[in-house]
Amino acid sequence: MKRFNLLPGESLNGAVGRYHALALSPAFSSTANQLGLNNQVISPLRFLHGDDVKLDEIFHTSENEKCRYTNSLNQYLSPFLNINEQQYLNTSSGGSHLRISGVSNLNVRHWRWCIDCVEQDEAKYGIEYYHHQHQLPGVYHCYRHGIGLSGHCIQCGFHANKIQDLVLPPMNNACPNCAAWMPGYDGYFSKTMAGIENTSIWLSMNENALSLEILSDLLCKKIGLKKSELGTLSSNRLISSWHKSLANEFDNNALLSYFNNAKPYFGGVSSPLIRKARLRLSSGDPLIPLVHMIALQHQGIDLATVASSLNLETVG
Ligand SMILES: [Zn+2]
Ligand SMILES: [Zn+2]
Repeated sequence: MKRFNLLPGESLNGAVGRYHALALSPAFSSTANQLGLNNQVISPLRFLHGDDVKLDEIFHTSENEKCRYTNSLNQYLSPFLNINEQQYLNTSSGGSHLRISGVSNLNVRHWRWCIDCVEQDEAKYGIEYYHHQHQLPGVYHCYRHGIGLSGHCIQCGFHANKIQDLVLPPMNNACPNCAAWMPGYDGYFSKTMAGIENTSIWLSMNENALSLEILSDLLCKKIGLKKSELGTLSSNRLISSWHKSLANEFDNNALLSYFNNAKPYFGGVSSPLIRKARLRLSSGDPLIPLVHMIALQHQGIDLATVASSLNLETVG
């Protein structure tokens, strides 16, 4: 096969599906072995995986030197890692020893695509492919066309949690199992969710100087928590009343759409993920970005604004 290059916006691990389709090898396992992958189960929500370092070595091009950062979830994840953890993103381990909590609590964990992108990509590049911005948690619409993302068959329930179940988005948008048209997302979507969707896409596209230290400080300040007083009775009371206010005031249907462990909580809805100490301290296991975004949005903190003020500081 001639040199395999990533296409614009292509998902780094999703590209294994296209590589397999082009390699014409009968078994996905032989493609995975040929690429030297340790794990053959490739999910769209793969954070900090050692195989992505290998894929970067094979698929990067001179125009796309940092695909391990820009075409994976790394650039989107980075603001929610502490400075120490951020350094692992550029090492040969890719931070694979870090465990991200919350992935299994997301309701949407399958490969998704936009039908307009599929048509355009097929016309321009001769093949359809998975875009990494279509895979972000909390994102339900295409970053280019604004239409609902496809990936779940409403007729038979088919969806591909791993790339070998559907190596390319289907031509004619037909379900590979029952051949029905696979419609774009048309479920609950509020203004709050649109805010989180826009922020998620923005983070995945823009390099910034955000870190968990900065974000947890901002959040504590907004809640009225002093880091020196954490662990005292009064700060515990403050945290607990903040959990209750978020459960009552944050869009309950959004939380139910996002998480499979969202449950009634003091008259509202909450997920145990939102009550993790990691949001306020910058220690503990990393959490999926969506949880941080919910807490920050609830406190009126706009990440793009915070990021651009940091960039100005660096330049100034
Ligand atoms: Zn699109
Ligand atoms: Zn179907």
